[in-house]
Amino acid sequence: MLGLVITLFIRCDQPNENTDNTLLRPWSGPFEGVPAFDQVKVEDVEEAMRSAMASHLEEIEAIANDKAPSTFDNTILAMESSGYELERAFAYYGVLSRNESTPEFRAIQKKLAPEFADYRSKIIQNEKLFKRIASIYKKATKDPLEADRQRLLEWTYQTYEMSGAGLDKDKKSRYAEINKELSELYTSFSDNVLHDEENYITYLTEDQLGGLPEDFVKSSAQMAKDKGEDGKYAVINTRSSMDPFLTFSTERNLRKQVWENYYSRGDNEDEYDNKSIISEILKLRHERVQLLGYENFAAWRLQNRMAKTPKNALHLLETIWPSAIERVAEEVADMQLIANQDQITIAPWDYRFYAEKVRQKKYDLDSDEVKQYLQLDRLTDAMHYVAGRLFFYDFSPIEVGKVPVFNEDVKVWEVKDKRTGKHIGLWYLDPFARPGKRSGAWATTYRSYSNFDGEKNVLASNNSNFVKPAPGEPVLISWDDATTFFHEFGHALHFFASNVRYPTLNSGVRDYTEFQSQLLERWLSTDEVIDQFLVHHQTGEPIPDDLVAKIKNAATFNQGFATTEYLASALMDLKLHMSDPKEIDIESFERETLKSLKMPKELPMRHRTPHFSHVFSGEGYATAYYGYIWADVLTADAAEAFAESPGGFYDEQLANRLVEYLFAPRNSMDPVEAYRLFRGRDAQIDALMRARGFAKTND
Ligand SMILES: [Zn+2]
Repeated sequence: MLGLVITLFIRCDQPNENTDNTLLRPWSGPFEGVPAFDQVKVEDVEEAMRSAMASHLEEIEAIANDKAPSTFDNTILAMESSGYELERAFAYYGVLSRNESTPEFRAIQKKLAPEFADYRSKIIQNEKLFKRIASIYKKATKDPLEADRQRLLEWTYQTYEMSGAGLDKDKKSRYAEINKELSELYTSFSDNVLHDEENYITYLTEDQLGGLPEDFVKSSAQMAKDKGEDGKYAVINTRSSMDPFLTFSTERNLRKQVWENYYSRGDNEDEYDNKSIISEILKLRHERVQLLGYENFAAWRLQNRMAKTPKNALHLLETIWPSAIERVAEEVADMQLIANQDQITIAPWDYRFYAEKVRQKKYDLDSDEVKQYLQLDRLTDAMHYVAGRLFFYDFSPIEVGKVPVFNEDVKVWEVKDKRTGKHIGLWYLDPFARPGKRSGAWATTYRSYSNFDGEKNVLASNNSNFVKPAPGEPVLISWDDATTFFHEFGHALHFFASNVRYPTLNSGVRDYTEFQSQLLERWLSTDEVIDQFLVHHQTGEPIPDDLVAKIKNAATFNQGFATTEYLASALMDLKLHMSDPKEIDIESFERETLKSLKMPKELPMRHRTPHFSHVFSGEGYATAYYGYIWADVLTADAAEAFAESPGGFYDEQLANRLVEYLFAPRNSMDPVEAYRLFRGRDAQIDALMRARGFAKTND
């Protein structure tokens, strides 16, 4: 059997030395081979992706048509060792789409999208392959394999089963039809949201700028100019424009207009209205999971998540809900005191405005002052320091030119184990915004860890969009951005710490994978980081204690609003997918659900159903929006474990358990089990309540 696996290795990783297509060439150079980012050409992409997909399909065909009876080694393991060429090509593809996008590349992306979908469904729908997987799975239910092999087998089987691989011919063809219809509906849904974002612009005149910060005024003048309305100021119908406008504008009528535009996206009773599309989507999703024998979409989706059932997810949300709306009542009362002077009763378009007034009064926190102590380079050092204390990692910069990069801004570090000197991998950092780079911050890997066919080192990257300073100037960032910087570094550490045997076990469980990165955020405000790294960029003085105290105090500010608007959307997402879609009228469902929840009238859901893109412009976050707070329960509970331990956030014993149970296993272990091993018990909701400044629950 082993012989067969070895022949498969040789075939699948047979290096295509002779190709002059960079995307297909095996990686060479130092550190076990690195991507040749400096040589990649957009015109190579199409050929490379097609050829790599075709080779992978050939490998899969060979596994499916193996004459020998199916075994874990000749099927599951063989699948694990297939597709390396495509994986390498995708490392380049990912960089071209996220870091260095161009119109030429986007045209290719559009062309390839249906081909990727086709390639994936060819694998999933391969009947012979699924028969082999299913027979191994069946045997293993009676006679389980070693724990991580069993997990890999179950995960693989479930992935195929959940995608309709086990259906008979008729059902399979209906399944495919439904998927096609759904993908068209998802596109229409996002097109409609985009239409309403682009077409409901509020133009301000010079005398309507009251209260607005200077940078907002500047950028809205530019946006108006770009839209051919020179001399005016444009408030675009997106969150990044709406949120600051509602926070600062003194023009109440305009606040109302901007608020209404934003929260009516997809709900304007015109050809761009999304309500009937949502009904269709819910019906088709329901029909599809019924073909597979599930009660509803939520039950199908959550079975291999940490929550496991919709009931568990719902229970968490409903436990937190009463405290969140209670806190809203307190926040509204605080704000009303100030609003009384303006003879105003707080309406939804007043919430952010008066919350800001309360914030200034209560917390007196000047975010510009905080920035002076947050230099990007020092924060990078701080993250490396934390990784050194918790993971025993040593980060050393690699000289420019030794490892190819896709942009001169990208810096690379080597990561080693401090204790043994063992090489772990490379860390790429691409910090600055530029045209063609997607917004926001993210982490990714170019090569992930596995050791079943030789130990692989990890190539991980962090990507942000800080504004590039003039040469010699420091990059000063906000507290929020510093938190995100730590968050994304948490994802990178999760990649580096992996000790899984098989590549698939690096994959994430959606309501669990944000936990590790959320947790790492907590180290930003530890004394060790504050004292050593948060120093004034000119004087080198450490950040004053009273400023730190203000930052910490402000952490629970406005949590009633933030938690309630989020929970309302998360509850709606679950309830919509747990109900019989035949009976759902979107408008009344939303209204009645909010009524039964006693939703406070002073604020809306964070995402109203007609523009809830997480859930309806695709499937990634359908019945998964609860996952953010699910992970946050773990985060708060684990953070308390550190706070209470003898060595605090740098307690060596607890740090060892953190690495061993929460980071290293990735998906090779059930997250519920892993957490229990770390904490000695399940996570409790109380810690999250305390972190958000809520009253204790009666749960
Ligand atoms: Zn994240």
